[in-house]
Amino acid sequence: MIITVASGKGGTGKTTIAVNLALSIGNANILDCDVEEPNVHTLLKPRKIATEDVLLPTPVVDHGKCSLCGKCGEFCEFNAIFVGKKKVVVYPEICHSCGGCRLVCPEKAIEEEGRTIGKIHQTHVKAIHLVYGELKIGEPLATPIIKAVKKQIEPKKINILDAPPGTACPVIETMEKSDFLMLVTEPTPFGLHDLAMAVDVVKQLGIPHGVVVNRAGIGDNAVQEYCKEMDIPILLEIPFDREIAEFYSRGVPFVEEMPEWKEQFLELFENAKEIMRNDS
Ligand code: SF4
Ligand code: SF4
Repeated sequence: MIITVASGKGGTGKTTIAVNLALSIGNANILDCDVEEPNVHTLLKPRKIATEDVLLPTPVVDHGKCSLCGKCGEFCEFNAIFVGKKKVVVYPEICHSCGGCRLVCPEKAIEEEGRTIGKIHQTHVKAIHLVYGELKIGEPLATPIIKAVKKQIEPKKINILDAPPGTACPVIETMEKSDFLMLVTEPTPFGLHDLAMAVDVVKQLGIPHGVVVNRAGIGDNAVQEYCKEMDIPILLEIPFDREIAEFYSRGVPFVEEMPEWKEQFLELFENAKEIMRNDS
């Protein structure tokens, strides 16, 4: 089972919800797909972490074989390979590793080499298996790292994915093949605006979904009214509470210190399962 926790914008408490849910379930995988700013590990505080590089195949030109025919440059829709008067230049940062230039080269002058674009880390905290990706600074492509993180999904276990904020490609990559999407928002005009954008994407993907309202009570009821109008179930409302905010600011998942919330998160999980069952 794959449950993705997402939000239309950053700062809604999405990661806190994902971590508290995983801790409440216990024997779960949590995969942090926010590879530009992973922070699940800052809440779970693992000790031993295994790390491996994520490599992306990148073209390398053998100038001894190249006839400067120009076919690779014509083929590349990303302008990542340029055929000059004397040599071919590859721009690895904008190469999407499609392999097309190698295929069209009539001289077989292009090989591929692995280029490190980031890392994935794996660790265990209590019964939780945590995987998180980290995009190298300056690298523009987050999706290959997200794919590498998602390779660690174990179909027989409960996998909770923490999506990047927003509604761009990395979010879609994270959401794809999910069984359920949990959209975290807050009851403010910004929260509603970004929730509506996330709902647009989710409806197009056709994945069962529900909303978690974080910091309930700080704004108005517009989010609740929107959900009613759109027929989207609100699975849980977490009030704006001083004690929860203090744990949050200290990087402590609040279910650890307020066990009554574990029940609420387990109920949230059961409600999500019920929606999935009704949808299938
Ligand atoms: S691998 Fe694809 S994206 Fe990269 S340079 Fe070749 S054609 Fe362009
Ligand atoms: S397609 Fe091959 S031979 Fe032609 S310019 Fe590119 S690398 Fe050189």
